[in-house]
Amino acid sequence: MSQPPEDSASLRAAVIATARAMNASGINVNKSGNVSVRCQRGPRAGFLLTPTGVPYERLVPEDIVFVDDRGHAIGRCEPSSEWRFHAAIYAARNDVEAIVHTHSTHATALACQGLSIPAFHYMVAVAGGADIRCADYATLGTQALADSALAALEGRRACLLAHHGVIACGASLDGAFALAVEVENLARTYIVARSLGHPRLLPADEMERVLERFRTYGQPGPT
Ligand SMILES: [Zn+2]
Repeated sequence: MSQPPEDSASLRAAVIATARAMNASGINVNKSGNVSVRCQRGPRAGFLLTPTGVPYERLVPEDIVFVDDRGHAIGRCEPSSEWRFHAAIYAARNDVEAIVHTHSTHATALACQGLSIPAFHYMVAVAGGADIRCADYATLGTQALADSALAALEGRRACLLAHHGVIACGASLDGAFALAVEVENLARTYIVARSLGHPRLLPADEMERVLERFRTYGQPGPT
């Protein structure tokens, strides 16, 4: 893993741009989403995170909060109440450089039914495996939610959160955002396919071939 970027006005601006892109794409519902990127602030490792309670259109770089690897927040705003799962993912997964969290409608609808997204379409592999799991329910903002999200993200870059929403991780802000959009797109397609009857699923060996293709030729979408 290369050294994460230093906290800077331009990195904070990139977090804001990603948050606004969530609004523009329709995957953010009111102020329910949040965005973070791993970074370094002097000697301390941590991440920059959108604050709680500030509409994305009004965000300025100083509103973005730095949360260090001990869970201490530095900034004039309070961090998103979901900072714990961001912290847990950065601590456990050194392949993750950015995280997008949304309550996008179709993915959240599946999560409210406790449904994972199975291998009904080959693009499910874009999240890193043969399915996109739904994490067990836990109260928002708790370590229990962070733990269940981490378990569902095992070997994956995205998961659903039961009765809650979606987490998408990436090697960059753009990658995490693109994956969140793709998970919502897959969820919408899966719901439509289910309305026609239970879709047949791709067998495990075929999903392995797709995953191998993504590894060899690069992913067609998010990275
Ligand atoms: Zn949430």
